[in-house]
Amino acid sequence: MTPLTRDHLTPIERSQLMARIKSRGNASTELTFLNLLRQNRVTGWRRHASIFGCPDFCFRECRTAVFIDGCFWHGCKLCCRTPASNSAFWNKKFEYNRQRDSLVKYELRRKGWRVVRIWEHELINGPKVIRKLKRILESA
Ligand SMILES: [Zn+2]
Repeated sequence: MTPLTRDHLTPIERSQLMARIKSRGNASTELTFLNLLRQNRVTGWRRHASIFGCPDFCFRECRTAVFIDGCFWHGCKLCCRTPASNSAFWNKKFEYNRQRDSLVKYELRRKGWRVVRIWEHELINGPKVIRKLKRILESA
């Protein structure tokens, strides 16, 4: 068997394929959070409002922006393992995402917003996430 028949995708095609798979994962993470908000009757939020950094959710009245971070894309130290193939590509991508995350946080805070980041793995414990969020919103 030649290397070509083992994998019909080029490294770039494989990366693009993985990116599609992983980003779908992140959409479902946002939906998990959305359901938590609804179940707990948390109101006053909007999705994908057009403010700097495009937070996943924002509570405009208490100027609080919420980002739901997929453990894979945002390089969670607890859960994220760099894929074995193409690791240089992924490490660069994760580093870029981390830098963008901290720039967004800095800019929003400068504009008077509070920034809440919720990791994908935190959503396993829904009640804890809601307690954390309510504490932050109530202290606004
Ligand atoms: Zn994680």
